[in-house]
Amino acid sequence: MLETTRTYRAKIVNHSQVSDDLDQCGFSASKLWNVARYYTQGRWDEDGEIPDDGELKSELKEHERYRDLHSQSSQRVLEELAESFTSWYKARQRGDENANPPGYRKHGDEHPRSTVTWKQKGIKHDSKHNQLRLSKGFNHKESPSDFILCEYETRPDVTVENIQQVRAVWNGDRWELHLVCKVEIPVEDAPGDNTAGIDLGIKNYLAIAYDDGDAELYPGNVLKQDKHYFTRDEYDTEGENGPSRCALRARQKLSRRKDHFLHTLAKHIVERCIDHEVGRIAIGDLSEIREDENGEARNWGKRGNKKLHGWEFDRFTRLLEYKAEEHGILVDRTNERDTSKTCWCCGRKRDANRVERGLYVCELCGATMNADVNGALNIRRKITQNPPTGDMSNGRLARPVAYLFTQTSGSFHPREQVGCEP
Ligand SMILES: [Zn+2]
Repeated sequence: MLETTRTYRAKIVNHSQVSDDLDQCGFSASKLWNVARYYTQGRWDEDGEIPDDGELKSELKEHERYRDLHSQSSQRVLEELAESFTSWYKARQRGDENANPPGYRKHGDEHPRSTVTWKQKGIKHDSKHNQLRLSKGFNHKESPSDFILCEYETRPDVTVENIQQVRAVWNGDRWELHLVCKVEIPVEDAPGDNTAGIDLGIKNYLAIAYDDGDAELYPGNVLKQDKHYFTRDEYDTEGENGPSRCALRARQKLSRRKDHFLHTLAKHIVERCIDHEVGRIAIGDLSEIREDENGEARNWGKRGNKKLHGWEFDRFTRLLEYKAEEHGILVDRTNERDTSKTCWCCGRKRDANRVERGLYVCELCGATMNADVNGALNIRRKITQNPPTGDMSNGRLARPVAYLFTQTSGSFHPREQVGCEP
């Protein structure tokens, strides 16, 4: 068994009943942050030193603002401040002139709603009724047993148990809870010794190539339609005071749908890898390089087939790692430099990669392949020298199976099946 933690997002069902109390906690966390920020400045000005979280806790534990929150919640605020100061200090020592120390949390006379963390002593969980009792600070308690009672809701496939931490996070419109749970994952034997390569992009969100010559494409069509729709909607409603409530809701809806897409895709890919007896997946890591040697953005031209941003890559890859590790499958992040320029078949690297209608055409060896499949094959090769065993003819590599996501069923189907629907 492998012991690890998972963080689940939860919606607060009785939001109107608890939002005032959560506001109070969020404001208190900002105030305590500012008190500690002020203390740290004093120490820095006096003797050029930054207090660590231990010092902050012992110096401030009698402070009035410390008692606005549960002691563990206050401690977490001080730890966060100490962590940000430490990383600023390290950046400064590295000679990073642009690094700024953490600021005060204040906008004019208003305090923002900071994230509030409860640890185990401040949490009582009733898993049967999906309720969480979160302890209030001493100053805000009307009775010794006073607490905030949140009713929550998570994705249906999530089991909430062994909660280590609850974080209340203000998302700009309402509070939501992030539940950090300890989980034990049975480590299965890998489905097999095969390998697969994954290339991430935008036109095709994902391309995967397996040992037996099978290759699949996963277009991001749903995401693009969504984005188009929601972006337009947002322009219409954006007012002088920033995004309207309506625009915020649209943004949240978009983010939920995208979440669903990414979770479903990661799960589906792991299932496909089990079918192909894959024990190891290579995935091109684009968090490092986003520009080629000439400093040009990496893309295939004007057709919008740009690569994903680093953070988005990271998000999907982490989901894939979670789901793969439960089945004993390793995910290797590999440097994807040149994987889109190189012909998988003969290894020739082209200076100017010419791609016609999504096809990579190699003038030297005559290979004609779907460009993303070529990338996936090159990424696969980073972890194995064994060539694929199946039919690698041009026709097969030029026309890989495409799996489309259908919003109604919430699952992926090969294009043929989708085409049969009325
Ligand atoms: Zn070639």
